Amino acid sequence: MALLEMLEKYSTDEKCREILTKLRWPEGVTCPRCKERKVCYLESRKQFECASCSYQFSVLTGTVFNDTHLPLEKWFAATYLLCEAKKGISACQIQRTLGISYKTAWYLCHRIRAAMNEVNKAMLGGKIEMDETYVGGRAPKGQGYTGRHTKKEIVIGIRQRNGELRMFHAKDVKSATIAQFIRENVSGDVDVIITDDFASYPFAMERGGIPRTRHETINHSGGVYVMGDIHTNTVESAFSLLKRGVMGTWHKVSAKHLPAYLDEMCFRFNRRKNPDLFTDTLRHMITAPVLTFEKLTA
Ligand SMILES: [Zn+2]
Repeated sequence: MALLEMLEKYSTDEKCREILTKLRWPEGVTCPRCKERKVCYLESRKQFECASCSYQFSVLTGTVFNDTHLPLEKWFAATYLLCEAKKGISACQIQRTLGISYKTAWYLCHRIRAAMNEVNKAMLGGKIEMDETYVGGRAPKGQGYTGRHTKKEIVIGIRQRNGELRMFHAKDVKSATIAQFIRENVSGDVDVIITDDFASYPFAMERGGIPRTRHETINHSGGVYVMGDIHTNTVESAFSLLKRGVMGTWHKVSAKHLPAYLDEMCFRFNRRKNPDLFTDTLRHMITAPVLTFEKLTA
């Protein structure tokens, strides 16, 4: 959907509520308390009243939009901008574009981002690439260290060829840590997992339940990057997009918020060919659990 088309389609509060109602209750409005389907609409209050338990609620009740003072049109515009920005968009940019305060913009971005995660993740299979990268921070001055020896944040990437990308913030690159990501994301009957020759991987595979015969390594330390089909180029291309996002757009991402940025990145990446990304994001927002400001800033 083009920007003008979106602005036209969702130009009023009523139009925004209408699509949100359809996305939240595709089978018809249902009382959040008692699941009653018989409700009446109180037009002046923009609320529904349950015929069974008399609970009054709006389409926004119990969602990330709850208690918002910001017009829904602005929520929609911000969501659109976040969906369109391949490398992410900063709260500053949203602040300027929508003419709202920085604090509002920051909170808005985080609420939208919180909805950009997958609740039920299927196990990945087929051909999988796994690698780790380092973002944020700087190497300690005067020490020519890079990668595994710096104070940067560690990101583990798992990508199924022709399939999904997942990225996680990891506390270290020990085999036990990597093994946990494998167990939680990779099916035991995966065809092959491809990694570089970093020493943690063979132990991680063993602990993660992946048979030795299904682990292929590419000898990066020996300067080899592609051996026929054995390479980690597709997960690395996702890392480079992440780095351009972190360096160019978010400037510095605190370790606390890094997992949310990674979810946002993967959410958008995995839907890059989906023409309904915007509507899909709205659906996640209207059905995702509430994120309170207290929880965000704790
Ligand atoms: Zn009810």
